[in-house]
Amino acid sequence: MIGAASYNAVEIDLKALRVNYEAVRSRVAPGIRIMAVVKADAYGHGLEAAAGAFAGAGADCFGVGTLEEGIRLRRAGLDGEVVLLLGFDPREAAEVVEYRLSPVVFAADGLEALSRLAADRGRQVGVHLKLDAGMGRFGVAPADLTRLAAIITGLPGLRLAGMMSHFPLADVPGAETRCREQWQLLQAGGAVCLPPAGVARPLLHMANSAALLRFPWAHGDLVRPGISLYGYSPLPVELAAAGLALQPAMSLRSRVLQVKMLPAGYGISYGHRYVTPAPTRLAVLPVGYADGYPRGVSGRAQVLLGGRRVPILGTICMNACMADVSALPAVQAGDEAVFLGRQGEEFIGADELADWHGTISYELLCRIGAMNQRLYTPLS
Ligand SMILES: *Cc1c(COP(=O)(O)O)cnc(C)c1O
Repeated sequence: MIGAASYNAVEIDLKALRVNYEAVRSRVAPGIRIMAVVKADAYGHGLEAAAGAFAGAGADCFGVGTLEEGIRLRRAGLDGEVVLLLGFDPREAAEVVEYRLSPVVFAADGLEALSRLAADRGRQVGVHLKLDAGMGRFGVAPADLTRLAAIITGLPGLRLAGMMSHFPLADVPGAETRCREQWQLLQAGGAVCLPPAGVARPLLHMANSAALLRFPWAHGDLVRPGISLYGYSPLPVELAAAGLALQPAMSLRSRVLQVKMLPAGYGISYGHRYVTPAPTRLAVLPVGYADGYPRGVSGRAQVLLGGRRVPILGTICMNACMADVSALPAVQAGDEAVFLGRQGEEFIGADELADWHGTISYELLCRIGAMNQRLYTPLS
């Protein structure tokens, strides 16, 4: 390992991923399938490793973003269904067939070519037809659903494997009625778009983690948890009662680079946005925004040192930040610093970090995971 990056590591606890999958499994009825959502490099946890952990816990269906992620899963030896949540580019049709991927579909473009390529190889590509039930994102309008379903069921190389939608309001208190109406739109579509006799009916699915936790009536035939598998609840505190016992899998650890005493009245970091009110013992840490630790949390953030929370002082730099260790005389250069995760009795989670930054846990996991070297703690 060379360079400052080697001070820092994102640790991924594969056992936590497995435990979370099992917790989710216990929340849905045995006959209902689970699509482990591993898009965005498994929310920063590493696509192959995370999918492997979920597969080990029984997952046989995975949701990825792009074709490239789908191919990576196949090259890693993952079996089971791999769903391309962002659909497919007609120019990628040959790879979709070759790697046995199942695209989400929300337009007729490229379907004929995809069917021909599959049929030429004696295959059928499973596709998941997406309805926009009120998300205002990809998906077809309810009025177009039947037409597109008929196109799919009429093409010999395609199989209508699923009919799906997505909840925009599943984590919003008071929106349950709207969610129910949106689920009913999908159900109505499923009732109309029946495949020819002898062909299995498509799986209906709509539930992300929030709907999975709150709305058992929306589990359909398959649920699509993402954030919950990584150990975080999507629910605000008012709805926390619907939560599950989950274990955050990601931590961000580093080391103290230097410890020194500064006199009172000493400005710290760019802009001197913090000036020491009294003599201060300062720990310099090699973590900054280039390591995914957002500069926007300057003035609010804390870090764990010596098993305690201490404030980060002044502006967070590109590869460094400074913490106040005046209350911790034992801390010295080389000691572990935890920016995300547990140290002793203390814990800083992605939800807390997200609060400091005015965002959600998802964004910080993606960012911190992508910008650091990842180490995996093995399953046993
Ligand atoms: C990302 C995503 C999910 C998972 O959502 P979480 O809130 O992380 O559980 C489910 N379905 C689709 C279509 C998604 O894009």
